[in-house]
Amino acid sequence: LVVVDHVQKHYGDFQALTDIDLTVHKGEVVVIIGPSGSGKSTLCRTINRLETITSGSITIDGKELPAEGKGLAQLRADVGMVFQSFNLFAHLTILENVTLGPIKVRGMKKADAEKEAMQLLERVGVAKQAAKLPAQLSGGQQQRVAIARALAMHPKVMLFDEPTSALDPEMITEVLDVMVELAASGMTMIVVTHEMGFARKAANRVVFMADGRILEEAGPEEFFTNPKSDRAKDFLSKLL
Ligand code: ATP
Ligand code: MG
Repeated sequence: LVVVDHVQKHYGDFQALTDIDLTVHKGEVVVIIGPSGSGKSTLCRTINRLETITSGSITIDGKELPAEGKGLAQLRADVGMVFQSFNLFAHLTILENVTLGPIKVRGMKKADAEKEAMQLLERVGVAKQAAKLPAQLSGGQQQRVAIARALAMHPKVMLFDEPTSALDPEMITEVLDVMVELAASGMTMIVVTHEMGFARKAANRVVFMADGRILEEAGPEEFFTNPKSDRAKDFLSKLL
C-alpha cells in the first residue's frame, strides 16, 4: 500500500534520509523507532508530502505522490496523520473539528458528517465531549479526538508521530488502547513511538532508524530479543 523506494532527503547540505526503502502492506502495522534526530519524523512527513524528497519515489496505493494541486488534497485524505501535539482547531467544537474535513473535502452533508463523527467519537470514547472546545478536554481526550478526526476522512493509511509523548502517563494508555483497537480493526498504520509495549502488542514489524537510515527491520519478538546492529542494541539497552 505504501512503497518508499530509494528515498533521499536533504535539508540544504544536511542529508536527513539516506536510501530509505520501506514497503507497508495493507493492514500492516509498522512501528518506527530510533534515537532522536534519526529521521523518523522526516520520513513520516515525506510520506504525506509535508516535506518534499530530494530523490527516490513514494507511492500510496500504486500512485506516485503528487507535489501539489488536486492530487495533493486527495493524498492528504488518503493519509491520516496524528502528531505529538494535537493540532485541533481551538475555536471549533470537538464535533466541528471532526466534521470539517468530511464536509469541506469529501463534500458530505452536514447531518451525515455529524452522524458519522458521533460514531467515531463514540469509538474513541469522547462522544460526551462533542459540544466542548478542545481546551476543555484533557490531553488524552484531545489526542483521541485527533485520531477520530483523521479517521473521518476514511484514510487508507494512518501515520502517527509520537502520539503519546506529550501526554501525562495516565493518559498514554487510553490513547494506546484506541490505537491497538484500530490496528486490530485492520487499519494500515505507520507509528513512530517510544512505547515498546505498543510495538510488542500491535506491530507486525519494527523498523529501526539511525542517522537517516533504516538499520534493521524485523518482527517485534525478533527485534527485541535479538537486535543485530550495535546501534539497536545500544538504543534498546537505554530504553529498557
Ligand atoms: P525525534 O526523536 O527527536 O523526534 P526524529 O527521528 O523524528 O527525532 P527528525 O525530526 O526527522 O528526527 O530529524 C532528522 C534530522 O533532520 C535532524 O538532524 C534534524 O535536525 C534535521 N531536520 C529536521 N527538520 C529539519 C528542517 N526543517 N531543516 C533542517 N534540518 C532539519
Ligand atoms: Mg520526531
